[in-house]
Amino acid sequence: MLTVLNCLVTEHDYRFVAAALAICALGCVVSMRLFARARNVRRAKHAAFIVMAGVAGGMTIWTTHFLAMLGFIPDVEHGFEPNFTLLSLGFAIATSMAGFLIAASRERAWMVEAGGIIIGTGIALMHFTGMRGFVVAGTVSYDPAFVAFSIVAGAALGMLATNRVARGTTGRSQYVGMGALILGIGMMHFTAMGAVQITPDPRVAVPGQLMSDSVLAILVVAVTGLVVLLGAVTHLAEEQGQQDTVAHYRHLAMHDPLTGLPNRAAVRDELPVRLKQAGGTSLAIIAIDLNRFKEINDVYGHAAGDAVLIQTTARIKTSLIEGEFFARLGGDEFIAVKPFTRENEVEEFAARISDAFSRPNELGNGRFSTSASIGIAVYPKDGDNVDELTMRADLAMYRSKKVSDGNWCWFDADADEDGRRRGQIAIGLRSAVAEGSLRLVFQPQISMKKRELLGFEALLRWTSSALGEVSPSDFIPVAEQTGMIVEIGDWVLMQACREASQWPAPLSIAVNVSPIQLMRPNFAERLKEILTETGLAATRLEIEITETTLIDNPGQALLILRQIKALGVRVAMDDFGTGYSSLSTLFSFPFDKIKVDRSFLNALGRQAQATSVIEMVIELGHKLSIPVLAEGVENDFQAAFLKDRRCDEAQGFLYGRPLDSGTARTLAHTGLSPDEATPRLIA
Ligand code: C2E
Ligand code: CA
Ligand code: CA
Repeated sequence: MLTVLNCLVTEHDYRFVAAALAICALGCVVSMRLFARARNVRRAKHAAFIVMAGVAGGMTIWTTHFLAMLGFIPDVEHGFEPNFTLLSLGFAIATSMAGFLIAASRERAWMVEAGGIIIGTGIALMHFTGMRGFVVAGTVSYDPAFVAFSIVAGAALGMLATNRVARGTTGRSQYVGMGALILGIGMMHFTAMGAVQITPDPRVAVPGQLMSDSVLAILVVAVTGLVVLLGAVTHLAEEQGQQDTVAHYRHLAMHDPLTGLPNRAAVRDELPVRLKQAGGTSLAIIAIDLNRFKEINDVYGHAAGDAVLIQTTARIKTSLIEGEFFARLGGDEFIAVKPFTRENEVEEFAARISDAFSRPNELGNGRFSTSASIGIAVYPKDGDNVDELTMRADLAMYRSKKVSDGNWCWFDADADEDGRRRGQIAIGLRSAVAEGSLRLVFQPQISMKKRELLGFEALLRWTSSALGEVSPSDFIPVAEQTGMIVEIGDWVLMQACREASQWPAPLSIAVNVSPIQLMRPNFAERLKEILTETGLAATRLEIEITETTLIDNPGQALLILRQIKALGVRVAMDDFGTGYSSLSTLFSFPFDKIKVDRSFLNALGRQAQATSVIEMVIELGHKLSIPVLAEGVENDFQAAFLKDRRCDEAQGFLYGRPLDSGTARTLAHTGLSPDEATPRLIA
């Protein structure tokens, strides 16, 4: 070590050493950055970066050596033999290029370090080749221990350098790698120079054909210039690379990977800008939702669904004209925007979209087609902000879904308010069971002949925290559409049976069951569980179903109805007379009760037809030995009519409004007294 220090302190001119170290540092940074870049790009770019890294690295090693040599001024006549001097430059470039090439190859893990070792030993190769060209009037000898150390140290630091740059995960490890290479080159040179022993010997002649210090200096300056140039190029390349990367990530973040369309994030950026730019012109915000897309996914798999999306959106993408914007919000939801002056321009665009989605798609194993429901809201007519406009476009889209396939609807405040309310109901219902805002009321059902209480129909009530009291006629259809009816219906059954179990036998409880709820394959099983849990006798429970239950899938429905009957639970046909195929559904299953819809009672005396329907149903019930219950009995006229036709049972405001559970329980225990019943029950 002392020799090395000694060599540095006494035998070198500091200005040259400083310049050598500066160019060494610059060159190392440049070559390592090129190396790092090479690792992250492919093919032609990769090769270019490796070549540049090799050239920069080799030239750095070489200039460092010769700059330091220029400062190493032995007091003897000397010169530099051109062949060896240039050969050493060639070696330096070749080894570092090979080293970087190997270190940047991702074929084998250890290649990173192997490349580093090659670069490190390359420093020694360059050094000793260069020294071979250093001719002095004297003899040059080396201390072998120092030589060996310098080679090993160079190799080790070269290995550390590539290792840190290639494997380091932090910015700091990059600097450690660069530092290691700087240290490797510096260490190698000064250790090796410390190992040199020059014994002046005037007998040794220095040939005249050698390069002098000044010629070498010019060469060194030239090569240094090249390193600096490469450094500048690297820097520019990196800047460009960063910009490319930023642009690339921005593109990724703003586009849907499947279809390449702008995504939700892009819409969030784009829409406000377009509204601002619209100025005086109108802007159509178009909401698009596919029909039957879920079916394709479910039946043919997601690959088929993806292929359909790709094909259909490609058609739209190529058809877009100036000003039109089309984006995918996710799943099968899309949004489009178009500035316009006449409505038919928008309709043409909507038709183009609709067309693209409904044209069949040829896929490996068949043809698939979807259709789009399209809703259009207009800025500024339908709203002046993005949220309002997209919501209204959605509302119009929902309406279009109901009206027809593959068509579009313009937002219409009157028609779509309905849809909006349904949306609010759906949101509120989601938490209704959990937050306890549902409750049941119980409406008495009486026998007409004896005017006695037979039981109650359970009717659902919902007091929403946001919407207040909501009628079941409004929220039950929403619950059915969203599937929430299953959970809600289960809760109703449980509550109703629990309440009825508190009433004296044989008072019964009638519970409305929605088709969706009934069609669940385990419905009968669940019913049995509820009866067991509440302790209610099966014969005291009656399920009310409407005709629609039997229309969609009669086979499955009848199967479940039979399971229910097998439990001992009765089944009533609700709202009879309002459906389509009343008689045939009535014959298809042995119902335990027919409930004549209240619309007929309502029309009684005003419409001759209503009168005959009621008469007919009562007659039919008698013939089939099925009790008939008339719903919606509100006045004595109606009651008298029913009594006269020997209608079995009745339910209506005349006999009692739906009661809260406490009142119903009291009534269940006291029963009806003929003269008292009516006034007491009208709440
Ligand atoms: P629904 O099954 O026909 O129930 C009878 C409806 O007629 C009840 O309306 C009741 O309050 C009303 N009503 C009873 N007597 C009279 C009367 O004398 N005059 C008039 N004008 N109306 C009378 P509500 O409670 O609003 O229920 C409406 C519908 O909501 C029910 O019709 C039923 O289809 C459905 N629903 C109610 N609760 C449930 C439930 O727990 N589950 C299911 N799936 N549907 C239910
Ligand atoms: Ca009912
Ligand atoms: Ca009814």
